[in-house]
Amino acid sequence: RTGFRLRTLCLRCSRGYGVTHNFQQRRLLNHFVSKEEIPFDLPKDAFTLAVKDNIATESLPTTCASPFLTPYTSPFEATIVAQLRERGAVVVGKTNLDEFGMGSHSTHSAFGPVTQPDSDLSPGGSSGGSAVAVATGEAAVALGTDTGGSVRLPAAYTGVVGYKPSYGMLSRHGVVPYANSLDTVGLLSRSYNIAELDPRIRAAWAAAAAAVLGARARVVPVSLPSTRHALSAYYVLAPAEASSNLAKYDGVRYGARAAASDTYAASRAAGFGGEVQRRILLGAYTLSAEAMDNYFRQAQCVRRVVRRDFDRVFRLGNPLVDEEDEAPFDLSDVPEEVEMQSKLGPAQVDFLLCPTAPTLAPGVDEARGMGELEGYVNDVFTVPASLAGLPAVSVPLAVEGDGRWAGLQVVGQFWDDARLLAVAREVR
Ligand code: GLN
Repeated sequence: RTGFRLRTLCLRCSRGYGVTHNFQQRRLLNHFVSKEEIPFDLPKDAFTLAVKDNIATESLPTTCASPFLTPYTSPFEATIVAQLRERGAVVVGKTNLDEFGMGSHSTHSAFGPVTQPDSDLSPGGSSGGSAVAVATGEAAVALGTDTGGSVRLPAAYTGVVGYKPSYGMLSRHGVVPYANSLDTVGLLSRSYNIAELDPRIRAAWAAAAAAVLGARARVVPVSLPSTRHALSAYYVLAPAEASSNLAKYDGVRYGARAAASDTYAASRAAGFGGEVQRRILLGAYTLSAEAMDNYFRQAQCVRRVVRRDFDRVFRLGNPLVDEEDEAPFDLSDVPEEVEMQSKLGPAQVDFLLCPTAPTLAPGVDEARGMGELEGYVNDVFTVPASLAGLPAVSVPLAVEGDGRWAGLQVVGQFWDDARLLAVAREVR
């Protein structure tokens, strides 16, 4: 169908499914879970594309790194894959991830953890396989999904560019949902040439701000007071949506069936990994009658005020917000000193600069040994833009005296993606 494909290579199907088998394949699989064989002489305007394995392709299985969907092959391909192929993309393979996109280090995978090339550093997650495919040059571009940072965090750890578009800008048709109101398809690449905070990251951030300043921009400090609640709200809302989404994997209509009399329970116990089971329990709890008001509803309110904080600083209005519905917020007659103190400032900001991750990439073993909470805290800088649906780019910055990368995040107002990408390029 692509005209280039010679043979489909699936590393698993012929051997049946099972976590044990998959773990045996770990070394071989690492960042790719299945691969296409591509010819040496690609047409001049073709480019190689790696696809996260929760995005449907027709020729290769789509497993979400879950034993539940191993092996599963989609009858259709995701719209975004079709659109990129129309523009010259040649799919090179499907990349490893945290099961169903749930995780921050690509360690929660039925295929085993992903590591950075020639090291045992975490590539970030959940699109870790896609980031490594780009970092190693095996793909010019990779597709990932970003629900709460899964494109930006791997980009920051592996030294590539990661772009999460405005929510709804790229089609999610054919993308296996995790938390629908947050899910976006994102792109990873080495550059865009094609069409508690670590002090080293703080230094890189300051240097980048200074660079932007030199390039005619004015840097002003701003405060987004509600964003400190964003992480907790995210880890209520995302598992709630996930528990609802994953209810369909019953071993009857969807997913691998366990041979037992209690098909549903047995299939789900065998088919979901530990992190996914934890999210389902969390979500089922926060949506239950006795917990709903205290968790789910409050998190929805937090989500709204997080978005409003952003709208207060951006010069551009949010096209999704009917300003008449919003409480008025006018700082025009606040004296300048007070304004500086409050750091709220007038709505004068075009783009926000902040780190992508609070730490540099940990080792994979360290990441695997982390408590859940420690893992979730890693997403503290990425989830605010996710909750607000805003576009954000992570651009790589080299950390002096350290072989690792820091990511600098540029966030824009909703649908201001084109200008955001132009600025991200400037920062780089
Ligand atoms: N680490 C976050 C989570 O586990 C984000 C994942 C993502 O963006 N898919 O939910």
